[in-house]
Amino acid sequence: MEIKKFINKKPYIISGPCSAESEEQLLNTAKSLKGKINVFRAGVWKPRTKPNSFEGVGKEALFWLQKVQNETGLKVITEVATAKHVELCLNAGIDMLWIGARTTVNPFYVQEISEALSGVNIPVFVKNPIHPDISLWIGALERLNNKGITKLSAIHRGFFTYESSAFRNEPKWELPIELKRKLPDLPIICDPSHISGNRKLIGDISQTAMDLDMNGLMIESHINPKKALSDVNQQLTPTELQNLLDSLIYRKRKSEDEKILSELKYLREKIDTIDEGIVSVLKNRKQFVEEIAQIKLKHNVTIFQLERWFQILNSRQRQATEIGLDPKMISDIYKLIHKYSILTQSKIMRKD
Ligand code: PEP
Ligand code: MN
Repeated sequence: MEIKKFINKKPYIISGPCSAESEEQLLNTAKSLKGKINVFRAGVWKPRTKPNSFEGVGKEALFWLQKVQNETGLKVITEVATAKHVELCLNAGIDMLWIGARTTVNPFYVQEISEALSGVNIPVFVKNPIHPDISLWIGALERLNNKGITKLSAIHRGFFTYESSAFRNEPKWELPIELKRKLPDLPIICDPSHISGNRKLIGDISQTAMDLDMNGLMIESHINPKKALSDVNQQLTPTELQNLLDSLIYRKRKSEDEKILSELKYLREKIDTIDEGIVSVLKNRKQFVEEIAQIKLKHNVTIFQLERWFQILNSRQRQATEIGLDPKMISDIYKLIHKYSILTQSKIMRKD
């Protein structure tokens, strides 16, 4: 993928209301954010989960965004979900576009948007799809790239989960990390507003994003958050946004200090040795799993044993708690170990 650098500042800050509600709300918010941010955001067409919620004012708001450009000099960005939206935005001179989580999931729409944009190389930000499917996320970026759009960035806005969670959308940080591994040149902006759904958590999530070396933040900000017509619990006032940005610690990517470098090297070597141990212990474990599979095969016994699985999970979690390790981490690790143990056994039992 050919990616052209267009983000030249770190952290790159995109902020503005969830939705453009009125000319006054938009201009007042933008004027208060001027000087604090790099790009002003506002949703013109809002993809809402349920009908009868506020679905945005539509194309009329594009004039208000033009006013923001003229009166504040800020660059503006909005969400597009169809080719028609793209056409209207391009005619209105909107500087940048983003594709929302509910659109990234749909290759037909992404293709249509890409085609509407071909030949117009404006920056496009692609939010992750609602579910944690990294190929779909990359696929959307590729569709745009195939039409000549090179000023691309990803936006990490978290993932829907059925499990109970403190977040509106689970961050699953391993996904943006994996995206970075696959596309090292692609900038990634974190959207703590949609991850948290709660203004109190935005600071912590933003700090994590900075510590993971993400390129910037997209944070919702409204001149009067309590009166917002959408996402009322997650918007900050412009002053709160400024305080939050001031409170973040921006760490450097690498230390140049020789002493620190050698200290890190020493500790990393310790970790490497321990990790080699972990891998070879897993190999030993697998040998016993294979022996068990042979016995199960011979005596016609099912692979999966519910009671044994509960016993493994409970005892390992208990041990973790006793020695001060996070039992959830151990349970996650054992779920994986168990999955592969079942795979090993089913391979043996099918073959013979
Ligand atoms: C938004 O940015 O307001 C929005 C609708 O985001 P998402 O697509 O991440 O839900
Ligand atoms: Mn929103």
